[in-house]
Amino acid sequence: DLDGIAAPVAVAIEVAGAAGLPRSPGLPEDLFAHDGQITKRAVRALTLAVLAPRPGERLWDIGAGSGSVSVEWCLSGGCAEALEPRESRRANIAANAESFGLGHWLRVHAGRAPEALSALPRPDAVFLGGGVTAAVLDALWDLVPPGTRIVGNAVTLDTEALYLAQPPLRGGSLTRIEIAQEAPLGPVRGWDRARPIVQWSVTR
Ligand code: SAH
Repeated sequence: DLDGIAAPVAVAIEVAGAAGLPRSPGLPEDLFAHDGQITKRAVRALTLAVLAPRPGERLWDIGAGSGSVSVEWCLSGGCAEALEPRESRRANIAANAESFGLGHWLRVHAGRAPEALSALPRPDAVFLGGGVTAAVLDALWDLVPPGTRIVGNAVTLDTEALYLAQPPLRGGSLTRIEIAQEAPLGPVRGWDRARPIVQWSVTR
């Protein structure tokens, strides 16, 4: 009986054959309110694996978009501070938090990095999803406590260049993620390649 269960979660339960919401990250995009700016499920699963949520930990989701990374972090028992400058996206984040029953765990903040960062309560991990500049990294590095796990996904060449420069400066490692999805190609089938992502992962 799915009465009273929020729509996306109810859909997930149906998808899973009434076996419940899947427990591993990488939930399908359809389960989230979004406008197309959303980390795709395969990349999200890889990202959550590196963010490595533990119960009770706090995430900063900088450039939260739809909040999908925050939602999956919170489903692992943590809480999240989602920072997003665009109002329509903040509405999506709030709707997603609500429909997954995470309203108490996922907080939405209006504002931009780096200005809005200092008002947030100290994190255990940080996801950099958008709007990252050298100034953002400098501010972040000064604000977060030692031991904070930081993971950034670069899609643009500018952010990629910034991350390529980080291991000699601040340490950590780089991973390039290239995913292709089977898709129709005229009458046959082929691979639709997503833009490559360069992921920088470091512990402060
Ligand atoms: N990970 C998200 C998608 C992020 S898209 C998801 O899964 O839904 C990147 C987001 O960064 C956009 O929504 C954009 O509005 C936001 N952004 C851009 N510049 C920013 C800044 N300076 N501070 C915070 N967010 C910013």
